[in-house]
Amino acid sequence: MTTTKLNNGLEMPSLGLGVWQSENGKETIDAIHWALEAGYRHVDTARIYNNEEAVGKALKTAGTDRDKVWLTTKIWNDDIRQARTADALDESLKRLQVDYVDLVLLHWPVEGSVKAYNELERALESGKARSIGLSNFMEKDIHLILEGGSVVPVVNQIEYHPYLAQEDAITASDANDIAITAWSPLMQGNFLKEPLFGEIGERYGKTAAQTVLRWCLQNDVIVIPKSTNRGRIRENGELFDFELSEEDIQAIDQLERGKRFGSDPHDFNF
Ligand code: NAD
Repeated sequence: MTTTKLNNGLEMPSLGLGVWQSENGKETIDAIHWALEAGYRHVDTARIYNNEEAVGKALKTAGTDRDKVWLTTKIWNDDIRQARTADALDESLKRLQVDYVDLVLLHWPVEGSVKAYNELERALESGKARSIGLSNFMEKDIHLILEGGSVVPVVNQIEYHPYLAQEDAITASDANDIAITAWSPLMQGNFLKEPLFGEIGERYGKTAAQTVLRWCLQNDVIVIPKSTNRGRIRENGELFDFELSEEDIQAIDQLERGKRFGSDPHDFNF
Protein backbone atom coordinates (compact mmCIF):
# COMPACT_ATOMS: atom_id res chain seq x y z
CA MET A 1 0.00 0.00 0.00
CA THR A 2 1.42 3.40 -0.92
CA THR A 3 0.65 6.87 0.38
CA THR A 4 0.53 10.30 -1.20
CA LYS A 5 2.34 13.10 0.60
CA LEU A 6 0.03 16.08 0.91
CA ASN A 7 1.06 19.75 0.95
CA ASN A 8 0.57 19.81 4.75
CA GLY A 9 3.07 16.97 5.21
CA LEU A 10 0.49 14.26 5.98
CA GLU A 11 0.64 10.91 4.17
CA MET A 12 -2.74 9.95 2.72
CA PRO A 13 -3.22 6.31 1.66
CA SER A 14 -3.41 6.22 -2.15
CA LEU A 15 -6.22 3.66 -2.05
CA GLY A 16 -9.47 4.10 -0.15
CA LEU A 17 -12.90 2.48 -0.06
CA GLY A 18 -15.70 4.63 -1.47
CA VAL A 19 -19.10 4.09 0.19
CA TRP A 20 -21.50 6.15 -1.92
CA GLN A 21 -24.79 4.23 -2.39
CA SER A 22 -23.88 1.78 0.33
CA GLU A 23 -26.66 1.40 2.90
CA ASN A 24 -26.44 2.82 6.42
CA GLY A 25 -26.07 -0.56 8.13
CA LYS A 26 -24.60 -4.02 7.67
CA GLU A 27 -23.70 -3.49 4.02
CA THR A 28 -21.35 -0.59 4.80
CA ILE A 29 -20.05 -2.11 8.04
CA ASP A 30 -19.12 -5.38 6.30
CA ALA A 31 -17.55 -3.58 3.35
CA ILE A 32 -15.31 -1.51 5.63
CA HIS A 33 -14.31 -4.54 7.69
CA TRP A 34 -13.43 -6.47 4.52
CA ALA A 35 -11.48 -3.51 3.17
CA LEU A 36 -9.46 -3.20 6.37
CA GLU A 37 -8.80 -6.96 6.26
CA ALA A 38 -7.56 -6.52 2.67
CA GLY A 39 -5.14 -3.77 3.75
CA TYR A 40 -7.11 -0.60 2.93
CA ARG A 41 -6.54 2.19 5.46
CA HIS A 42 -8.80 4.87 4.03
CA VAL A 43 -12.59 5.32 3.86
CA ASP A 44 -14.38 8.00 1.82
CA THR A 45 -17.86 9.02 2.93
CA ALA A 46 -19.99 12.19 2.93
CA ARG A 47 -22.93 13.58 4.85
CA ILE A 48 -25.12 13.18 1.71
CA TYR A 49 -24.36 9.42 1.48
CA ASN A 50 -26.46 8.98 4.64
CA ASN A 51 -24.16 6.28 5.98
CA GLU A 52 -21.85 8.10 8.39
CA GLU A 53 -23.36 6.19 11.34
CA ALA A 54 -22.48 2.86 9.73
CA VAL A 55 -18.99 4.10 8.88
CA GLY A 56 -18.56 5.10 12.52
CA LYS A 57 -19.82 1.72 13.76
CA ALA A 58 -17.52 -0.11 11.36
CA LEU A 59 -14.48 1.79 12.58
CA LYS A 60 -15.44 1.31 16.24
CA THR A 61 -15.84 -2.43 15.82
CA ALA A 62 -12.84 -2.98 13.54
CA GLY A 63 -9.62 -4.47 14.81
CA THR A 64 -7.70 -1.51 13.41
CA ASP A 65 -7.03 1.57 15.56
CA ARG A 66 -8.85 4.75 14.56
CA ASP A 67 -5.56 6.62 14.08
CA LYS A 68 -4.44 4.06 11.49
CA VAL A 69 -7.42 4.72 9.19
CA TRP A 70 -7.71 7.82 7.02
CA LEU A 71 -11.29 9.08 7.23
CA THR A 72 -12.70 11.59 4.74
CA THR A 73 -16.13 13.19 4.85
CA LYS A 74 -17.72 16.09 2.96
CA ILE A 75 -19.88 19.12 3.69
CA TRP A 76 -23.07 19.03 1.65
CA ASN A 77 -24.14 21.88 -0.65
CA ASP A 78 -27.20 22.98 1.39
CA ASP A 79 -25.03 23.35 4.48
CA ILE A 80 -22.53 25.43 2.49
CA ARG A 81 -25.30 27.64 1.09
CA GLN A 82 -26.88 28.09 4.52
CA ALA A 83 -23.52 29.01 6.09
CA ARG A 84 -23.73 26.12 8.53
CA THR A 85 -20.47 24.35 7.71
CA ALA A 86 -19.18 24.35 11.31
CA ASP A 87 -22.44 22.78 12.59
CA ALA A 88 -22.50 20.31 9.70
CA LEU A 89 -18.99 19.15 10.55
CA ASP A 90 -19.93 18.73 14.23
CA GLU A 91 -22.95 16.64 13.17
CA SER A 92 -20.77 14.47 10.94
CA LEU A 93 -18.25 13.92 13.75
CA LYS A 94 -21.10 12.86 16.03
CA ARG A 95 -22.53 10.40 13.51
CA LEU A 96 -19.05 9.05 12.80
CA GLN A 97 -18.35 8.78 16.56
CA VAL A 98 -14.95 10.41 16.17
CA ASP A 99 -13.22 13.53 17.54
CA TYR A 100 -11.67 14.41 14.20
CA VAL A 101 -11.65 13.49 10.55
CA ASP A 102 -8.43 13.25 8.56
CA LEU A 103 -9.92 15.21 5.71
CA VAL A 104 -13.08 17.23 5.17
CA LEU A 105 -14.04 18.47 1.72
CA LEU A 106 -16.51 21.01 0.37
CA HIS A 107 -18.56 18.61 -1.75
CA TRP A 108 -19.40 20.91 -4.70
CA PRO A 109 -18.55 24.53 -5.60
CA VAL A 110 -21.78 26.31 -4.65
CA GLU A 111 -22.57 29.85 -3.49
CA GLY A 112 -20.94 30.43 -0.13
CA SER A 113 -17.95 28.13 -0.72
CA VAL A 114 -15.33 30.68 0.30
CA LYS A 115 -17.03 31.36 3.65
CA ALA A 116 -17.50 27.64 4.16
CA TYR A 117 -13.83 27.09 3.42
CA ASN A 118 -12.93 29.71 6.05
CA GLU A 119 -15.01 27.64 8.51
CA LEU A 120 -12.97 24.58 7.59
CA GLU A 121 -9.81 26.57 8.30
CA ARG A 122 -11.14 27.10 11.83
CA ALA A 123 -11.84 23.37 12.11
CA LEU A 124 -8.17 22.78 11.34
CA GLU A 125 -7.18 25.07 14.22
CA SER A 126 -9.57 23.38 16.65
CA GLY A 127 -8.35 19.92 15.62
CA LYS A 128 -11.70 18.69 14.28
CA ALA A 129 -10.04 18.12 10.89
CA ARG A 130 -6.43 17.25 10.18
CA SER A 131 -6.68 18.44 6.56
CA ILE A 132 -9.16 20.35 4.44
CA GLY A 133 -9.89 20.31 0.75
CA LEU A 134 -12.27 20.51 -2.16
CA SER A 135 -14.35 18.29 -4.37
CA ASN A 136 -15.54 19.02 -7.90
CA PHE A 137 -13.76 22.39 -7.94
CA MET A 138 -12.76 23.42 -11.45
CA GLU A 139 -10.06 25.95 -12.32
CA LYS A 140 -11.99 29.16 -11.56
CA ASP A 141 -13.50 27.71 -8.35
CA ILE A 142 -10.03 26.74 -7.11
CA HIS A 143 -8.78 30.28 -7.68
CA LEU A 144 -11.67 31.75 -5.67
CA ILE A 145 -10.72 29.54 -2.71
CA LEU A 146 -7.02 30.41 -3.01
CA GLU A 147 -7.89 34.12 -3.05
CA GLY A 148 -10.35 33.94 -0.13
CA GLY A 149 -8.57 31.43 2.06
CA SER A 150 -5.28 31.29 3.90
CA VAL A 151 -4.65 27.53 3.82
CA VAL A 152 -4.04 25.79 0.49
CA PRO A 153 -6.45 22.82 0.11
CA VAL A 154 -4.65 19.47 0.27
CA VAL A 155 -6.89 17.59 -2.15
CA ASN A 156 -9.35 18.16 -4.97
CA GLN A 157 -11.61 15.11 -5.40
CA ILE A 158 -12.97 14.98 -8.96
CA GLU A 159 -14.40 12.48 -11.42
CA TYR A 160 -11.39 10.96 -13.15
CA HIS A 161 -10.85 7.80 -15.21
CA PRO A 162 -9.50 6.89 -18.66
CA TYR A 163 -12.46 8.53 -20.45
CA LEU A 164 -12.09 11.83 -18.53
CA ALA A 165 -8.66 13.38 -18.09
CA GLN A 166 -9.86 16.67 -16.50
CA GLU A 167 -6.79 18.53 -17.71
CA ASP A 168 -7.85 22.04 -16.62
CA ALA A 169 -8.78 21.07 -13.07
CA ILE A 170 -5.66 18.93 -12.72
CA THR A 171 -3.32 21.62 -14.09
CA ALA A 172 -4.80 24.20 -11.68
CA SER A 173 -4.52 21.73 -8.78
CA ASP A 174 -0.95 20.69 -9.67
CA ALA A 175 0.15 24.32 -9.90
CA ASN A 176 -0.83 24.74 -6.25
CA ASP A 177 0.40 21.36 -5.00
CA ILE A 178 -3.17 20.11 -4.49
CA ALA A 179 -3.36 16.31 -4.80
CA ILE A 180 -6.06 14.69 -6.94
CA THR A 181 -8.41 11.98 -5.75
CA ALA A 182 -10.43 10.21 -8.45
CA TRP A 183 -14.10 9.61 -7.83
CA SER A 184 -15.73 6.96 -10.01
CA PRO A 185 -12.26 5.66 -10.96
CA LEU A 186 -13.99 2.51 -12.28
CA MET A 187 -16.36 4.59 -14.40
CA GLN A 188 -19.24 3.42 -12.18
CA GLY A 189 -18.75 -0.10 -13.51
CA ASN A 190 -18.53 0.93 -17.18
CA PHE A 191 -14.87 -0.08 -17.38
CA LEU A 192 -16.22 -3.59 -18.11
CA LYS A 193 -17.39 -2.43 -21.56
CA GLU A 194 -13.86 -1.41 -22.63
CA PRO A 195 -11.90 -4.47 -23.83
CA LEU A 196 -8.48 -2.77 -23.71
CA PHE A 197 -8.29 -2.91 -19.88
CA GLY A 198 -8.69 -6.68 -19.82
CA GLU A 199 -6.25 -7.14 -22.70
CA ILE A 200 -3.55 -5.08 -20.99
CA GLY A 201 -4.26 -6.56 -17.56
CA GLU A 202 -3.90 -10.10 -18.85
CA ARG A 203 -0.23 -9.51 -19.64
CA TYR A 204 0.40 -8.67 -15.98
CA GLY A 205 -1.86 -11.41 -14.58
CA LYS A 206 -4.24 -8.66 -13.44
CA THR A 207 -7.94 -7.90 -13.98
CA ALA A 208 -9.45 -5.03 -15.93
CA ALA A 209 -10.42 -3.26 -12.68
CA GLN A 210 -6.89 -3.53 -11.32
CA THR A 211 -5.50 -2.19 -14.61
CA VAL A 212 -7.72 0.91 -14.52
CA LEU A 213 -6.96 1.62 -10.87
CA ARG A 214 -3.23 1.12 -11.43
CA TRP A 215 -3.36 3.56 -14.38
CA CYS A 216 -4.84 6.17 -11.99
CA LEU A 217 -2.15 5.52 -9.36
CA GLN A 218 0.65 5.78 -11.92
CA ASN A 219 -0.79 9.16 -12.92
CA ASP A 220 -0.32 10.25 -9.26
CA VAL A 221 -4.03 10.09 -8.56
CA ILE A 222 -5.49 8.67 -5.32
CA VAL A 223 -8.32 6.15 -5.92
CA ILE A 224 -11.46 5.37 -3.90
CA PRO A 225 -13.22 2.56 -5.80
CA LYS A 226 -16.59 1.50 -4.42
CA SER A 227 -17.69 -2.05 -3.88
CA THR A 228 -19.65 -3.89 -1.21
CA ASN A 229 -18.58 -7.28 -2.53
CA ARG A 230 -15.86 -8.98 -0.51
CA GLY A 231 -14.02 -10.49 -3.49
CA ARG A 232 -14.09 -7.24 -5.48
CA ILE A 233 -12.93 -5.20 -2.49
CA ARG A 234 -9.95 -7.54 -2.21
CA GLU A 235 -9.36 -7.44 -5.97
CA ASN A 236 -9.44 -3.62 -6.04
CA GLY A 237 -6.85 -3.56 -3.26
CA GLU A 238 -4.26 -5.68 -5.06
CA LEU A 239 -2.61 -2.83 -6.93
CA PHE A 240 0.85 -2.60 -5.44
CA ASP A 241 2.65 -5.63 -6.86
CA PHE A 242 2.82 -4.61 -10.52
CA GLU A 243 3.60 -1.62 -12.69
CA LEU A 244 2.14 -0.76 -16.09
CA SER A 245 4.70 0.03 -18.78
CA GLU A 246 4.86 3.53 -20.23
CA GLU A 247 3.51 2.08 -23.49
CA ASP A 248 0.45 0.63 -21.75
CA ILE A 249 -0.15 3.87 -19.82
CA GLN A 250 -0.11 5.74 -23.12
CA ALA A 251 -2.45 3.24 -24.79
CA ILE A 252 -4.97 3.85 -21.97
CA ASP A 253 -4.42 7.64 -22.20
CA GLN A 254 -5.60 7.41 -25.83
CA LEU A 255 -9.10 6.42 -24.64
CA GLU A 256 -9.79 9.97 -23.36
CA ARG A 257 -13.07 11.35 -24.72
CA GLY A 258 -14.28 13.92 -22.18
CA LYS A 259 -16.99 11.46 -21.06
CA ARG A 260 -18.55 11.85 -17.63
CA PHE A 261 -20.59 9.26 -15.76
CA GLY A 262 -21.45 11.69 -12.95
CA SER A 263 -22.65 15.30 -12.79
CA ASP A 264 -20.76 18.11 -14.47
CA PRO A 265 -19.31 20.67 -12.00
CA HIS A 266 -19.80 23.36 -14.67
CA ASP A 267 -23.55 22.65 -14.84
CA PHE A 268 -25.44 21.01 -11.97
CA ASN A 269 -28.66 21.87 -10.15
CA PHE A 270 -28.40 20.45 -6.64
P1 NAD B 1 -16.73 3.45 -9.07
O1 NAD B 1 -16.13 3.98 -10.31
O2 NAD B 1 -15.87 3.20 -7.90
O3 NAD B 1 -17.54 2.16 -9.51
C1 NAD B 1 -18.25 1.42 -8.57
C2 NAD B 1 -19.02 0.29 -9.25
O4 NAD B 1 -18.13 -0.49 -10.04
C3 NAD B 1 -19.56 -0.65 -8.18
O5 NAD B 1 -20.85 -0.30 -7.81
C4 NAD B 1 -19.53 -1.99 -8.90
O6 NAD B 1 -20.73 -2.12 -9.60
C5 NAD B 1 -18.41 -1.87 -9.86
N1 NAD B 1 -17.18 -2.56 -9.40
C6 NAD B 1 -16.35 -2.19 -8.38
N2 NAD B 1 -15.29 -3.01 -8.32
C7 NAD B 1 -15.46 -3.92 -9.31
C8 NAD B 1 -14.69 -5.02 -9.77
N3 NAD B 1 -13.53 -5.32 -9.20
N4 NAD B 1 -15.17 -5.73 -10.81
C9 NAD B 1 -16.33 -5.42 -11.41
N5 NAD B 1 -17.09 -4.38 -11.05
C10 NAD B 1 -16.66 -3.62 -10.00
O7 NAD B 1 -17.95 4.45 -8.70
P2 NAD B 1 -18.41 5.44 -7.57
O8 NAD B 1 -18.99 4.73 -6.43
O9 NAD B 1 -19.24 6.43 -8.28
O10 NAD B 1 -17.08 6.19 -7.08
C11 NAD B 1 -16.27 5.73 -6.03
C12 NAD B 1 -16.38 6.60 -4.81
O11 NAD B 1 -16.09 7.96 -5.13
C13 NAD B 1 -17.79 6.69 -4.21
O12 NAD B 1 -18.18 5.54 -3.51
C14 NAD B 1 -17.64 7.93 -3.35
O13 NAD B 1 -16.95 7.62 -2.14
C15 NAD B 1 -16.80 8.82 -4.24
N6 NAD B 1 -17.62 9.75 -5.06
C16 NAD B 1 -17.48 11.07 -4.83
C17 NAD B 1 -18.21 11.99 -5.58
C18 NAD B 1 -18.02 13.44 -5.29
O14 NAD B 1 -18.81 14.26 -5.80
N7 NAD B 1 -17.03 13.82 -4.53
C19 NAD B 1 -19.09 11.56 -6.57
C20 NAD B 1 -19.20 10.20 -6.81
C21 NAD B 1 -18.47 9.30 -6.05
